[in-house]
Amino acid sequence: LMHELHKAEKFSAISQLAASVAHEIRNPMTTIRGFMQVLQGERNLNDNQNLFITISLQELDRTQTIIDNFLSLAKPTTGTMAKIDLSELLKETIDFMRSYSHLANTELVEAIDKKLCIKGDAHEVRQVFINILKNGIEAMPSGGSIYIIAKVDRDNVRIKFRDEGVGMNKEQLDRLGHPYYSTKEKGTGLGMMISFDIIQRMRGRINVESQEGKGTTFTILLPCE
Ligand code: ADP
Ligand code: MG
Repeated sequence: LMHELHKAEKFSAISQLAASVAHEIRNPMTTIRGFMQVLQGERNLNDNQNLFITISLQELDRTQTIIDNFLSLAKPTTGTMAKIDLSELLKETIDFMRSYSHLANTELVEAIDKKLCIKGDAHEVRQVFINILKNGIEAMPSGGSIYIIAKVDRDNVRIKFRDEGVGMNKEQLDRLGHPYYSTKEKGTGLGMMISFDIIQRMRGRINVESQEGKGTTFTILLPCE
């Protein structure tokens, strides 16, 4: 059974709300970090106390990194709509992901037409490609390939990512892109939400087809420049 999904508007508001929450969390975190550092400077701490403070500071920094990453992804668009050579951007991004892909015993196979141009923020578009490639790689624990095809389709550029991974059932596909929906132990469940939001703001479309045990195909349409 094959499931298909068209994603729409609702994610934009959610991700803006999430970004403002993330921003609010930064200030109290700074306070906590300051006090932890004061404690760390205390003399006469025993080994356990030292260890706990060190771990607390590390965990605070980890939290900060997650928030920073999230904010940089979800930041309200600067409205940057520059001309992008999508062919180059896609190739660069695939090359960037190659070492990660090799480590996971997977292969990235590309067929990208030249001089495909769109309008948008290159950083954001790259983020979408990274999220999809990363998910594809993570969906193939015993190896496989992701096939990436990019070409013109009427007034759009069409980019297809097909993986040979575990796939999703209808219920999972419905939840894809909802904030914090993740089936991974260390997942954030934010990658797809942010990606859908970026494509939607660019007036593009993203479509997901999946078959459990067979794989998943993401198709992105973005208006040609
Ligand atoms: P995360 O990767 O942190 O879990 P995402 O928003 O990127 O968050 O993805 C949400 C969930 O959607 C994943 O945990 C996974 O269950 C599912 N998913 C996303 N992409 C794929 C894919 N290519 N194949 C199978 N499942 C996927
Ligand atoms: Mg992900």
